[in-house]
This record gives sequence, C-alpha cells and structure tokens, in this order.
Amino acid sequence: MTPLATTSATEVLRRCAELDRHSASPTHLERTYLTPEHAAANRATEGWMRQAGLRTWVDAAGNQYGRREGPEPGMPALLLGSHLDTVPDAGSYDGMLGVLMAIAVAERLRATELPFALEVVGFSDEEGARFGKALLGSQAAAGTWDQAWWHLRDRDGVTLREAFVGFGLDPLRVHEAARRPGELVGYVEAHIEQGPLLEAADRSLGYVTAIAGARRFHLTVHGEARHAGGTPYERRKDALVGASEAIVVIERLARASTCIATVGRIEVQPGAVNVIPGRADLSLDLRAATDAERDAMWQRMEAEITALCEARGLRLSTEETHRAFAAPCAPWLQDAVGVGIAAADASYPAGAAPMGLWSRAGHDAMAIAAVTEIGMLFVRCFDGISHHPGEDVREIDVARGLDALERAVLEVARVVRERS
Ligand SMILES: [Zn+2]
Repeated sequence: MTPLATTSATEVLRRCAELDRHSASPTHLERTYLTPEHAAANRATEGWMRQAGLRTWVDAAGNQYGRREGPEPGMPALLLGSHLDTVPDAGSYDGMLGVLMAIAVAERLRATELPFALEVVGFSDEEGARFGKALLGSQAAAGTWDQAWWHLRDRDGVTLREAFVGFGLDPLRVHEAARRPGELVGYVEAHIEQGPLLEAADRSLGYVTAIAGARRFHLTVHGEARHAGGTPYERRKDALVGASEAIVVIERLARASTCIATVGRIEVQPGAVNVIPGRADLSLDLRAATDAERDAMWQRMEAEITALCEARGLRLSTEETHRAFAAPCAPWLQDAVGVGIAAADASYPAGAAPMGLWSRAGHDAMAIAAVTEIGMLFVRCFDGISHHPGEDVREIDVARGLDALERAVLEVARVVRERS
C-alpha cells in the first residue's frame, strides 16, 4: 500500500527523540509517574494528538487521551496506544513508539470513515519505576485500581496519594478513569519486541499471540552450617550445593519446554569462607504463553528440586511472591494485525504467513484485557536490547509498522461492519 503524505516514520522517530527531553536527569532518560516530566510529556503528546485532529484530555489517573468520534457521537471506541513512562536510564522507544505510531495512524485515517470512534492513549505508568507497582495507569483505566496502593511510597517517602495531589489529581476520583466494556471495541498496542526473535527471523513485524503472566517464588534450601574443615562429606548438608543443583534443574527443564525461567538472586547463610552454607535463599521468575504450561512447569520443578534436596539431606520450602494471569490476544485482533503485516511488511517473502509470538514481557494490554479484547503489533528492535539507552529501531521497520497498524484498523472496521 502507498503510505499517505502524513506523519511519517521519520517524524515519529523525531518525536520519540523530542520526548527524551522530558526527563528527571540531564544525562539519561528517566520519566516516572506523576512527576513534572510526566506532565511535560503529556503536554507534548497532547499537541501531536490535536494536530492529528483528536479531542484531548487527561483522565483521573494521569493518562493522556485523544479521541475522534465515529459516524455518531459517543460510539464505542477502538483504543490504540501504549505508555509514556520509562525505567531509569531508559531507551527512547519502549512505550513511546507505540503512542506516537498510534497518533500518526489516527492522523492518516483522519478523513476515513470508521464504524467506531478512534482513541489514542498514552498510559501514565506501565513500568512501575516510581512506586514499585507496575501498570498503575492502565489498571486505573481497566477499573482494577486497588485502594491499598495509596500507601505505596517512592524512594523519597512520598505516598502515591500525595503524588496524585501534587500532580493536580484527586485521589477520590480515580474511579472516573475506569473504562466500561461497552465503551470499547478493543485495544491494539504497537510496541518494540524487547527480544531478538524478529531480528533473528529477519522480519520487521510480528503479531502477539499472548502476553505471559509471570509467577515468582522465593525458594529456601535448608541445610546445616558446620565447620568447613572438620565435617566429612557424608556428614554435610550443604544448602548452597543443593541450591546450585536446583538452579541447573530449573534451567534444564525450562530449556526443554516453551517456558522461560530465571533465578536472579541468591543469598547464602552464614556466608563465611570457612563455614558450610546452612541456608540458601533464591528467587525464581517463571513465564509461559499460557497459565497451564507455566503451572505444570512449576509442579515439575518443585517435585525435582524437592527430590534432589531430600537426596542430600536438605529441606526445601517455597513461597509464591507474585502471580499474574497470562493475557491471550483475541483471535480476531491477532488476525487484524496479521492482515496489516501481510499488507505492509515487505520483509516477508510473498505469501509467507506473518510471524506470531508470545510476549515474554508485560504490557499495558494485559491490564486492559480486564475490560476489552486486546491485540498487539511487535516492531523489531536492535539486538533485542530494551530497558537500556542502547534501545534502537530502524526507520524502515517503523514505516512498515505504521502501514500495518493503519491497515489493521481498517480490518477491524471491516469486521465490525460485518458483525453489525
Ligand atoms: Zn513498554
């Protein structure tokens, strides 16, 4: 398809660079929830939304919106977007690229009649970098806000409630940010892949099949601290050797499956050079495309680690510290994004099926899945690098992404017309 003479990939990338200026630090990019730089990024984004012909507002949780009506005012909206907040020392594209691509597509479709309203959102908090709780902006929009969060504090001791007031928001009105299912046709988010699979396959774009829900555990291997010289091997209950074996088992089982598992932290007691470790504490992060695969994998891991601990005279105790449901993308929105890719991505040989992949990372879409059906478009990024200033995307991939997202919106329109 021929790209229209409107907001180009070059301009989208220029806007990404412009948003980099709204940072807590002059030397690196850091933009967290309810800060002056959050407000500044919202204002810049609002300006581009208006240029695209959208009516704009900031909701009761600091999310920046733009909307154009459908054939009649007040019709349900197809929501496009991503997030505007970042991790500390971030790259320029995680989140922002999806918001700016959505605005560009809204501008391209400005004169095209759609059977729904079109909205673009820049979510205010996906990363959770300030209050240690991810997806605050999109959970407010999904109506899943938890009153317990008001007491969360940032590293300066400021509570979430105080930060709301400081930003000019009213904590008592946060429920007004919640969207109702009848207001939305669906949610489609473009995002950099944050992994190396599209690059390895030499493809610009892919569609997402599901977003992984992680389970996290705290594992403790209990042994016996004894003298490192005086205790013969047959008398040892070395917690660290048991934990090391457990880590190898975790990797072996995950590698042979479709799950991905990481032990990111280990602590040993008493931690002295001449004492046999009496206790080892380790973290486990476990993800898969479906909850069933992930839960079955955890059962196997727990059984094997328990057995290896028993064989060494050790004891295993486990505690679950986090659980999120996997969020499957709706088949019809996967298809719509796939139709967009097939029409726009010349990196595929003629007739080749678009590549579907599950997202190992979390996204706003998984929160929004509580209120409407979701779809996602992944854009290739350099070497899979993300959450790092080395994040990079190619202009050709963004250009193909814009064409694909525009085509996907038209496909959603076709399906909605067909249904009515
Ligand atoms: Zn992101």
